[in-house]
Amino acid sequence: MKLVWFRRDLRIKDNIALYEACVSGEPVMAVYYETPLQWKSHGLAPMQADLIQRRLLILQQELEKLNIPLLFRSVDAFRDINPSLVQLCQQYQISDIYCTRDYEIDEIDRDNSIAGLLSLTSTVLHRFDYKCIFAPGSITNGAGNTYRVFTPFKKAWLQEARAINVSPIGAPEPVQTDSTTQALLRNRAPIEFRYPLRDSVSWPVDDSAIIQRLRDFCRYRVEQYDVSRDFPAIPATSQLSPYLAIGAISPRQCMARLLVESPQCLDKDSGGGHIWLSELVWREFYQHIVAAYPEISKGNSFQAWTDTIEWNRDELQFQRWKQGKTGFPIVDAAMRQLNETGWMHNRLRMIVASFLVKDLHIDWRWGEHYFMSKLIDGDFAANNGGWQWSASVGTDAQPYFRVFNPTAQSKKFDPNTRFIRRWLKELESVPEKALHAPHEWLIRTVLTLPIRGRLLITNWRGKKPSPCSKRRSVIKAHKGLNHDANCRHARERNVGKVSRRLPLSA
Ligand SMILES: Cc1cc2nc3c(=O)[nH]c(=O)nc-3n(C[C@H](O)[C@H](O)[C@H](O)COP(=O)(O)OP(=O)(O)OC[C@H]3O[C@@H](n4cnc5c(N)ncnc54)[C@H](O)[C@@H]3O)c2cc1C
Repeated sequence: MKLVWFRRDLRIKDNIALYEACVSGEPVMAVYYETPLQWKSHGLAPMQADLIQRRLLILQQELEKLNIPLLFRSVDAFRDINPSLVQLCQQYQISDIYCTRDYEIDEIDRDNSIAGLLSLTSTVLHRFDYKCIFAPGSITNGAGNTYRVFTPFKKAWLQEARAINVSPIGAPEPVQTDSTTQALLRNRAPIEFRYPLRDSVSWPVDDSAIIQRLRDFCRYRVEQYDVSRDFPAIPATSQLSPYLAIGAISPRQCMARLLVESPQCLDKDSGGGHIWLSELVWREFYQHIVAAYPEISKGNSFQAWTDTIEWNRDELQFQRWKQGKTGFPIVDAAMRQLNETGWMHNRLRMIVASFLVKDLHIDWRWGEHYFMSKLIDGDFAANNGGWQWSASVGTDAQPYFRVFNPTAQSKKFDPNTRFIRRWLKELESVPEKALHAPHEWLIRTVLTLPIRGRLLITNWRGKKPSPCSKRRSVIKAHKGLNHDANCRHARERNVGKVSRRLPLSA
């Protein structure tokens, strides 16, 4: 008997672990482990948990058509998988387990630990690198190291990509059954998470809807992607991130479809198709970084010296940022989009992250954790990479003195205030011209306003953003930091940190 262990590869097509198990010619069964305590420590968003649960129910039906029963097990944490999986192997006489590798430190430890245990038994664990088009460690610089900067990584990645065939693997043929799998197929295992859930129903989970979203995007929208992708009021991006995050679709499927509609995208270095491909490369870049630099998974900044920055621990300001009540409309509209839908446009993620770190001087890790707890597309590598980039502490860091001015960003990327109006209904009486910075208008008009207007001013008392003073304060926060000397200090401070995210509680 073969066993497929599903984790973040919740699909039938282009799933090498499933495919390899099926070509063996033996009966196949599958398992999924819910690990609520572990997920809590990783800050998994209830909306993503709901998406995973809904996707599993579909996957279970799809697998049944291939004669493969999907079992569901709920244990507290990764470490509790070991005894359960060993017991499963004994009970069903499993000779081989197939799975797709994850690259975060806890996930690597999980897999190494079970591999060690299984090596004492007759069951073999087969791990496949299939989360990325190119496995971490396979795109390296002249010295054989993982690139620390995106642009040369992308150049090398594209060169490799031109040389390979990216055709995805199809769905496997139905496998033969035996009395065990037949009995399991007759009694479908219920899949019910203990983890808190939040309704994700606006994101369809059946294969055909997800593939259709990819096809429609590549056919009708990708050409305009380079010019429209930065405007949050326009649905110009693919919105495939939740599916890529849980593996309901693979990067290879995305690239293969893109090549059908934009065959030149690998050769040209501009145009919608090429720019969208670059986003898929960003995704891979951060996966490679997480795999190559495990200290990233332990809560550390990539640039070690920046760990000596003194952050502002202002809980009240953080609360206002989380709730979308900072007084800066573009920031607040974005945070309300996140809180309500579990998704946020990329341009807005950069704006709100810059605001939290560079304007409020709050630790980027607070923002990283909050995002994770809300995002339906939460992915450790992309989220951590995005936050470290925004905070100027990561790979390819933007210089620390570069600060997004939220009002200038708002005027540029939401010029007719459509996005702001959609999320900030309380500002509907503010004239369009004043909407990017309503406090000025409110100050002028407050005396003529009815009570509701006066309430507005108490809620919208954001100060006029002054890029110069902000830049000065960011530089001040870094002033006196001797990068080389502090590098060692920062490393020493981090000795002993083990898990990335929050410690597991009882
Ligand atoms: C502070 C911050 C936090 C972020 N957190 C996450 C996260 O938890 N999960 C996540 O998937 N993305 C994250 N991103 C990256 C990006 O914002 C989202 O991937 C994107 O907005 C998803 O929308 P889309 O599917 O329409 O993207 P598209 O523009 O259609 O891009 C296609 C795909 O490429 C990948 N991608 C695009 N941009 C990036 C990027 N900058 N880094 C890595 N991958 C990228 C995603 O898988 C995305 O689905 C974050 C960015 C920032 C600045």
